[in-house]
Amino acid sequence: MLSPPLHSGAGAGSGVRPLNIVIIGGGISGLAAAYRIRRAVPDAAITLLEADDRVGGKVRTERADGFTLEAGPNGFLDSKSSTIQLCRDLGLGERLRVASEGSRKNRYLFLNGELQKLPGDPLGLLRTPLLTFRGKLAMLAEPFRRRPGRLPDEESVAEFSRRRFGREAADTFVDALVTGIHAGDPERLSVRAAFPRLVKLEAEAGSVLRGFLRAAKVKKRLARERGEVSQPQRMWSFDGGLGVLIEALRDSLGPIVQTGIGVRSVVRAEAGYIVRGDGNDRWPADVVVHAAPASAQAETLRDLDPSLAAELATVKFTPVHVVLLGYRAEDAPLAPDGFGYIAPQNTRRDVLGVQWCSAIFPGRAPPGMVLWRALCGGINRPDVAAWPDGELVAAVHREMQLAMKVTAAPVFARVVRWPQAIPQYEVGHMARLERLDALAARHPGLILAGNSHRGIALNDCTEQAEWIALRVAGIAGK
Ligand SMILES: Cc1cc2nc3c(=O)[nH]c(=O)nc-3n(C[C@H](O)[C@H](O)[C@H](O)COP(=O)(O)OP(=O)(O)OC[C@H]3O[C@@H](n4cnc5c(N)ncnc54)[C@H](O)[C@@H]3O)c2cc1C
Repeated sequence: MLSPPLHSGAGAGSGVRPLNIVIIGGGISGLAAAYRIRRAVPDAAITLLEADDRVGGKVRTERADGFTLEAGPNGFLDSKSSTIQLCRDLGLGERLRVASEGSRKNRYLFLNGELQKLPGDPLGLLRTPLLTFRGKLAMLAEPFRRRPGRLPDEESVAEFSRRRFGREAADTFVDALVTGIHAGDPERLSVRAAFPRLVKLEAEAGSVLRGFLRAAKVKKRLARERGEVSQPQRMWSFDGGLGVLIEALRDSLGPIVQTGIGVRSVVRAEAGYIVRGDGNDRWPADVVVHAAPASAQAETLRDLDPSLAAELATVKFTPVHVVLLGYRAEDAPLAPDGFGYIAPQNTRRDVLGVQWCSAIFPGRAPPGMVLWRALCGGINRPDVAAWPDGELVAAVHREMQLAMKVTAAPVFARVVRWPQAIPQYEVGHMARLERLDALAARHPGLILAGNSHRGIALNDCTEQAEWIALRVAGIAGK
């Protein structure tokens, strides 16, 4: 029985007893929330319960045979400041490493049996063989295309991009973007939920391209005012991988974090909630931050509110498995200085894309070796996700022979399976969020968090932690 006693006395936030906060799920969402809440409400009693025997969730770095292996995310962007700021607050600022310049500039598609470089700027767009002359014209006409007066509440990513950029660009570039980030289907994903910035740019500037150019100008001006040089968007990690961030969070939180504890249910108590684990374990809580995936939120909140649980259960996930392969450099004649390639889902290949890990962050492979990782599965290839490890490795190696011209078998292979890798924000997700907000509002102190709701990037999870801390501080009367 691990439960701290629920102190008697005045209600939560009165200052008589500390606020009891239970966070469910120790992925980056739960860990960052715990860290931010502790800073905002230092006298709160916080407990973080994680079902697994390790924290980090999808963020997992392993080391084997001299390779540094990322099982989940590879890095985070500086398009938002929340993750970089979290790293700095944890004292990790000096250890941050930016991805190689080549990986920022050189990204490819695998189309028609060969790697084709993605254009990196407007001139590249004019020259790219990936679009016909008509396709280029349609794309370049985007700033002059008016936004229709009446639009459906939620357009799909494909509808939005066809409307703005034309069919060819939508099929080529937008499918690749969706494959690379969501492993999802552009016809089904909601543009407002999955790519809110595109919708905002169109609404504010009348055009996505014009909006981007304006935002770049503002960024440059602000940098100049600070006496800095404006940098393009870059990706970050650590020499030791993203596990460094997770270890620092875990060390900083100390005994707040309890692993190996799967929450079974959350029920109402006289004041607040009781969080139940296996057996007789119970934790009283004034505030519950539920940062597990929506499927687990649904299961554990069923007793509390069947309608809320039913709504949460409608979030779909797609499986993605990560196949990490190490090759001898001499067997990998095409080892470009770049990020990797995407095989758009509409090509239905066995591999969704490949990241050249040791080119993105040098030091990920031992000397004389390269480390690549392939992502397999996604919304359109659940059949591939069902293949056993050996078959996955063989399929990815075959693909490496074709796309990367490798001449020998890999010397290292590791498969990491994520059956529920990425929540799919399909059309209707925004309406679901509204319903979820209304249902959750019936339960004061219950906060739904995690990547199933308002963003899947690490930045979204760490930014969410900041507003959760503000909300909890409000409950605590800080
Ligand atoms: C292959 C892959 C590559 C990615 N690449 C990138 C990238 O490069 N950059 C980027 O920004 N993002 C990337 N992402 C997305 C990002 O990694 C995730 O969105 C993010 O890590 C999710 O964090 P989370 O804490 O919300 O959820 P999770 O990481 O899923 O954590 C949820 C936690 O809750 C725990 N849990 C579940 N049920 C219970 C229960 N009943 N009781 C207690 N605990 C429970 C789980 O064990 C888990 O630890 C990638 C994701 C994947 C899968």
